[in-house]
Amino acid sequence: MTAPIDCDLHPVVPGIKALMPYLDDHWRDTVVRRGIEDLTTISYPSRNPLSFRQDWRDGSGRTGMDVKTLTAQALDPLGTQLAILSPLYGVQAQFSEDLGAAMTRALNDWIAKEWLDRDSRLRASIVVPMQNVAMCVEEIERLAPDRRFVQVLLLAGSETTLGRRANWPIYEAAQRHGLPIGIHAGSMFRHPVTAVGWPTTYTEDYINQAGAFQTQLGSLLTEGVFAKFPELTVVLMESGVTWLPAYFWRLTKFWKGLRSEIPWVSDPPTSIIRERVRLTLQPFDGPPDAASVMRLIEHLGSDEMILFSTDYPHWQYDGADPMPEGLDPGLAAKIMEENPLKTYVRLKERETTR
Ligand code: ZN
Repeated sequence: MTAPIDCDLHPVVPGIKALMPYLDDHWRDTVVRRGIEDLTTISYPSRNPLSFRQDWRDGSGRTGMDVKTLTAQALDPLGTQLAILSPLYGVQAQFSEDLGAAMTRALNDWIAKEWLDRDSRLRASIVVPMQNVAMCVEEIERLAPDRRFVQVLLLAGSETTLGRRANWPIYEAAQRHGLPIGIHAGSMFRHPVTAVGWPTTYTEDYINQAGAFQTQLGSLLTEGVFAKFPELTVVLMESGVTWLPAYFWRLTKFWKGLRSEIPWVSDPPTSIIRERVRLTLQPFDGPPDAASVMRLIEHLGSDEMILFSTDYPHWQYDGADPMPEGLDPGLAAKIMEENPLKTYVRLKERETTR
């Protein structure tokens, strides 16, 4: 059986104390002086059943806070060959750009030292301080020489739509370093998750993340990011999958009528998206049987778009196997290994050290 490449896992920051050694003196003092509490991952409240698999929780109600636990729970049982860590720790939600950038640097350095240095199967996303584009580029430049960082991580809930020109230096830097842009569910909490105000339940928040992904994909496409950066790949992470075929057919229909407005989008959105956009598998929101998955692939028009992921330590599938059952072995091998290797060029460099 193919050893999978897990494209979405979330190491959990045990608390702000873990990052203190990675903050410089000024910011360490600031955390103490201001009494800054943990930047809790409010997107994934600890007590929510989806946040952590129940039987993996430790006494604190959480898990995945160290390499040993994460590899024992997420990598070893599946025989995973490589895994891309994407920490979600609320650094993007800080209103101070400087504090956001300092926390982001600490988080990335903590990942390199406490995780990547300790298990050769691990890779990571570069978290960037989305509060400020220049600071994002600075962080990409700082970490890109470490080839274990394999993509740039953005959140779907950004302050402005991601296609806007102001964000283009991020894409320029990512393309130049061979780093895909990963857009993960989550938010800077500048806007409600819906276009018509704040929902009142976690269920609504969770289901409406797909709307944010649609907006971002439409923005990247119509503003011309794919045309301007022809080598850039975008990975939609934890977005679900089944909304995409209907969305891109709809987008293509309106493109046919309105394309004079966006002449730089010279190909139909369906073909651009098939070529340049990828999606992580979990949480898989289609029927889990092989026939339905095959129909979905048919609707997508490509079997190269889906990338294996567990979304550890979140748990959104039945049993122990994140893959839908009964898939054709060829398709399963593509999802588990071939598609990730094609998407993340740096994964092919197995013997990478800083
Ligand atoms: Zn995820």
